[in-house]
Amino acid sequence: MSYTVTDIAKIINAQPAVSSEARIEHLLIDSRKVVFPESALFFAISGPRRDGHSFISELYTRGVRSFVVKKEYEVNAFPDAFFLKVDNVLTALQQLAAFHRAQFNIPVIGITGSNGKTIVKEWLFQLLQADHTIVRSPRSYNSQVGVPLSVWQIEEHHTLAIFEAGISTIGEMDKLEQIILPTFGVLTNLAGAHSEGFSDDRQKAIEKAKLFKNVNTLVFGKEAVAGLIDVEGKDKQFFKKETGLYSWSRQQPATCKIISEKKEGINTVLSCLYDGKKNEITVPFTDRISIDNVITCCMVMLALGYNAEVINERVAKLEVVDMRMQLKKGIHNSYILNDSYSNDTASLDLALDYLQQQAGNKPSTLILSDVLQSGRDENTLYNEIAEALIVRGIRRFIGIGPAINKHRNAFTGKENGKFSTSFYPSTEAFLQQAGTQQFSGEYILLKGARIFEFEKISHWLEQEVHQTVMEINLSAMAHNLKVYQAQLLPTTKLMAMVKAFSYGSGSAEVARLLQFQKVDYLAVAYADEGVELRKAGISLPIMVMNADSAGFDALVTYGLEPEIYSFQVYHAFHQFLTQQGLQQFPVHIKFNTGMNRLGFEVTEAGELAGYIKSRQTMAVQSVFSHLVASESAEHDGFTRQQVTLFENACRELRRGIGYTFIKHIANSAAIHRNAAYQFDMVRLGIGLYGVDTGEGSSVSLETVATLKTTVAQVRKVKAGETVGYGRKGRVDTDSLIATVRIGYADGYSRRLGNGAGKMFIDNRLVPVIGNVCMDMTMLDVTDLPNLSEGDTVEVFGRNLAVQTVADWAGTIAYEIMTGVSQRVKRVYVEE
Ligand SMILES: *Cc1c(COP(=O)(O)O)cnc(C)c1O
Repeated sequence: MSYTVTDIAKIINAQPAVSSEARIEHLLIDSRKVVFPESALFFAISGPRRDGHSFISELYTRGVRSFVVKKEYEVNAFPDAFFLKVDNVLTALQQLAAFHRAQFNIPVIGITGSNGKTIVKEWLFQLLQADHTIVRSPRSYNSQVGVPLSVWQIEEHHTLAIFEAGISTIGEMDKLEQIILPTFGVLTNLAGAHSEGFSDDRQKAIEKAKLFKNVNTLVFGKEAVAGLIDVEGKDKQFFKKETGLYSWSRQQPATCKIISEKKEGINTVLSCLYDGKKNEITVPFTDRISIDNVITCCMVMLALGYNAEVINERVAKLEVVDMRMQLKKGIHNSYILNDSYSNDTASLDLALDYLQQQAGNKPSTLILSDVLQSGRDENTLYNEIAEALIVRGIRRFIGIGPAINKHRNAFTGKENGKFSTSFYPSTEAFLQQAGTQQFSGEYILLKGARIFEFEKISHWLEQEVHQTVMEINLSAMAHNLKVYQAQLLPTTKLMAMVKAFSYGSGSAEVARLLQFQKVDYLAVAYADEGVELRKAGISLPIMVMNADSAGFDALVTYGLEPEIYSFQVYHAFHQFLTQQGLQQFPVHIKFNTGMNRLGFEVTEAGELAGYIKSRQTMAVQSVFSHLVASESAEHDGFTRQQVTLFENACRELRRGIGYTFIKHIANSAAIHRNAAYQFDMVRLGIGLYGVDTGEGSSVSLETVATLKTTVAQVRKVKAGETVGYGRKGRVDTDSLIATVRIGYADGYSRRLGNGAGKMFIDNRLVPVIGNVCMDMTMLDVTDLPNLSEGDTVEVFGRNLAVQTVADWAGTIAYEIMTGVSQRVKRVYVEE
């Protein structure tokens, strides 16, 4: 099914009417994701910091011709483009999706809840795909924008749809309900996750329930919603009278009562009572969360009429859903992005987006298996994929599997030097014949259906792994960036601090994310760091805070902008620029307002301005100062004083040089503790990396860095013996001691020895025993008798905050993060 621009104008009630027979296939909301411009319709959705309309001319240049814009938007100078004018652009997107949904009379499963939505959706897909051609939300597309885009994917050949819905404030679920129109509801649970946007958990629960007001069947767990919503009692009013309720419970009578749960190796055997009969079901997981999610899925199958035998057979084959795309360093300077999430065109699109974002100017390669169960005509499917590869600038394509081989013409026909191709009948054949030497300096996306076992290719292409890794969650970083942006005026610029290897997180990878997210500036400490970013293809302006004369050449060659902080630096750089015959070189002026580290004194502003104005070698881009204690309420008075001094310095300099510049003083803590200090730009550092340093404040940041290692050996140590160097770790009772693969050479401070520090294993904190060694540390794991060699240990991360570890070591999070040594491999994940 496709719509012409005219059809859509009618559906969304655009005024005045538009007449165009152009066919729209793709809804576009992100200007960075144009693939098929002619058949795309761009929705100029605006947020607090982003006016969607500002992307129109760029999109027009790239060939997009159809736009949904708000009424007031002045259309000028876009010949042959169509503008659909509406009151509210987001509403129009939702109306269009709702209209599209209403064209189909197929069962639609709508899932909501606090946790588990995406897992349940994916598992239902795994369980039901044998009998249906299923359309489902890509990844966790469950928002006001994500749901319309998901629903837009429904096509004639689909026989079942599974969509998830997530909300962040009141009033949102009604809209999602109208778009999804679920016929079948699944409520996973109502744990009190994050509740901003709601007055309390009850209000949030009721809002979520609105997804189910028209469903014929509703699946829920009694304990999972207990105390928040009473589906069978007082809250019946929220559902239709005829709605069939399928509940499960461990404690109370329910449609399905779980009587017992027994762990057997890697499985859990559940005994349950359903329809007066006792059944056993073997779940291939042992953790509580997975078991709950499997039970929810089984309830859906029961409600759909499947019998216990089929359910058991399919549940046994359930596979772990890893929705994260992992970017890892591979052989010969390559990077590997293994997306094992699913292998359909929607997720291929998302993976290609991410590949493009990360690859920058480096060549990219796609290794793709047969796309299974697409329900589409294979010829069309593979031709479409080949088109997408050209548009995305993929340089090399490797197809694996019989179906791709059969349709290899779709790819080879398009060559014309655009991308090279090779084909293999199976993963095994590829591994035997391909040879690793052909891969170097490129970004390789692996996208394979499960049965092709692309993890084998991933391992084959990976560097040898040192078992201690620092996992950097780029989605969390993007989230943190948004949290801070939300506190700024739309016009305030943002400079991201990526000094010291981005606080330990990695330079190029982080900078690419920031460039993609359109921050305005980057800042590094030394010229070398800036050079590295330029070599990685980063084109954002970069400020270098500590440039010395040895680095001047690099500044000019790589277009880096120095901080000028003293007359000595000013004169040296002026002399250099004069020798090079350069004028108006962009620089940043720093004033000292109390830190007493680097910077001109405020009283020197006039003299400095005189030089700058009369010589014209430098153009002042920005003027800044640094707050010494913006995080601390005790020093708020001093902070204010710094700001006043800074304002005076700016005024003086402005008067002297005769033009304006960007002014900035706020670091992370200042951004959210005092909006008045944002001036024209802020410098975001530690907050981006997930650490909230501000006192008495709370920003809801997500953890970015997780340092993990593994257990190398576990041994029994008798009472009275000692552990490690210097006999410092004395054990009083018979104990179990684990040796883990991290030491002070990795950045695990020796100050954490002898019980000062702890690590997180298997939901528990266990103390360090004895001195920390160079490459290893010993832990007292007497409380964890089941620990095995190879088990993962979290040194800091989601379960153990880096600030806590810093406290134990008598330092601050900044030092712990930047102290993780370079031999610890960084792995980048995107959720
Ligand atoms: C590091 C740094 C920042 C960032 O500080 P955070 O506390 O990490 O936000 C800002 N400005 C300057 C000059 C810095 O050196």
